[in-house]
Amino acid sequence: MNAVDRGTRIETHRNLIGAEWRSALSGSTLPMVEPSTGATFAAIAASGAEDIDLAVRAARAAFDDGPWGRMPAFERGRLLMRLAGAILDHAEELAAIEARDCGKPMRQARADVAATARYFEYYGGAADKLHGDTIPYLAGMTVMALREPLGVTAHIVPWNYPLQIFGRSVGASLAAGNAAVVKPAEDACLSLVRLAELALEIGLPPGALNLVTGTGEAAGAALVAHPGIDFVSFTGSPEVGTLVQQAAAANHVGVTLELGGKSPQIVFADADLDQVLPFAVNAIVQNAGQTCSACSRLLVERSIYPAFLERLAAAFATLRVGAHQADLDCGPLISARQKTRVEGFLDEARAARLPVLARGTIDPAAPAGGFYVAPALIGDVPPDLRLAREEIFGPVLAAIPFADEEEALRLANATDYGLVAALWTRDGARQMRLARRLRCGQVFINGFGAGGGIELPFGGVKRSGHGREKGFEALHEFTALKTIVIKHG
Ligand code: NAD
Repeated sequence: MNAVDRGTRIETHRNLIGAEWRSALSGSTLPMVEPSTGATFAAIAASGAEDIDLAVRAARAAFDDGPWGRMPAFERGRLLMRLAGAILDHAEELAAIEARDCGKPMRQARADVAATARYFEYYGGAADKLHGDTIPYLAGMTVMALREPLGVTAHIVPWNYPLQIFGRSVGASLAAGNAAVVKPAEDACLSLVRLAELALEIGLPPGALNLVTGTGEAAGAALVAHPGIDFVSFTGSPEVGTLVQQAAAANHVGVTLELGGKSPQIVFADADLDQVLPFAVNAIVQNAGQTCSACSRLLVERSIYPAFLERLAAAFATLRVGAHQADLDCGPLISARQKTRVEGFLDEARAARLPVLARGTIDPAAPAGGFYVAPALIGDVPPDLRLAREEIFGPVLAAIPFADEEEALRLANATDYGLVAALWTRDGARQMRLARRLRCGQVFINGFGAGGGIELPFGGVKRSGHGREKGFEALHEFTALKTIVIKHG
């Protein structure tokens, strides 16, 4: 279904609209750049409002009149589980596409594929267990609250975890019985094109899933503003999140916004520091720090700060960065733009004369044109500096000492974000005291998993957004309650 330009030998990927693979109506395309080399290796349809309109119509037809809209919940679930099986059957192929497209080390891409299959298993299994309620009311009356799908849902997916974010958002929406239109990120979307092919192959009815590629400004903005959309699921930057919410407000439809964070790891002197160490490193190095739930701030109790930072610096100095196939600790960043942005934060650290306690190394074999940044551990970061407050989305860890529990809490809550937090202490009462007072959506105690498991509700407060994805909770976001009141005497 993809066209190959014989001159350039570059494959151009098309949109999935209904059952058809279609180029953008304008004929425009966008180049896809490989982060490991900086070279163009593919192209995608550069879609516009007219392509989005076709996709929304295809989804509406599938929901209102097609076999998808009439399908019993257990059959929907069965199809989603079949898709999970197809993902596992094609795991290595999907991982290779994701690794190349995003610049991820293969081991991360493999983990992403496994998680994506789990989303479809989880939501496939949940499809026929999502039900409403009856409500005790007046004598002679019966009230039921039906949980119904919303209709056509829009999904704006970012470039950092295309497969996983597709799985958590589209998996839940389809399980709830909606039809979906997906606009993946222009920086990385090829795994989702392949996933859409697999969805058709396993028998997902045409129109249940539509995929339209293009820029945020053209295709994304047209999708979220389309009057045929009943709900928007957005993951990306707070700035675009505001635009998305404004567009959704004009159509009076709901949104979930997952807008990243500036999440803290809080390490008390009584913690098992041997355990903390690998988590503190991985929570910022995973996916080269381009993870919404990365822990980019490290708050350490002052009494252990020098010794712990020394150990952490030694660990950071061993980190190696290279091309996705080299499968080292870090791959490149997604784009030249993202590299410039991250380096800007490092320049600010230098200008403020902050101690750079350690840097990783870029593998000499890494191709010259790739977007590589060596991980950096910056010490004694003043809490009011941009470095301690803004999402960098790169492998840069800001370490900050604290004196006591109150200061730790104040610092932890002192950014505009509130996505996740990790707390390391053996004091059980302190664990609960702080967990209750941290302003964020998830708290990990004596452990950390970026984003948590498939089963765990995930989302933020404050500038990190609102609404919850993952877990059973997401199914509620993608449904509406209808109350039916029967007077029978
Ligand atoms: P972005 O918000 O611009 O892009 C995310 C998605 O939104 C992409 O699919 C994009 O095409 C789409 N988009 C852009 N403009 C749009 C519009 N007007 N209407 C609808 N959709 C639109 O993010 P970015 O520019 O790729 O990255 C910038 C920063 O955002 C990063 O440095 C990082 O801090 C943050 N970010 C966070 C996440 C996350 O997981 N929370 C993901 C990506 C980026």
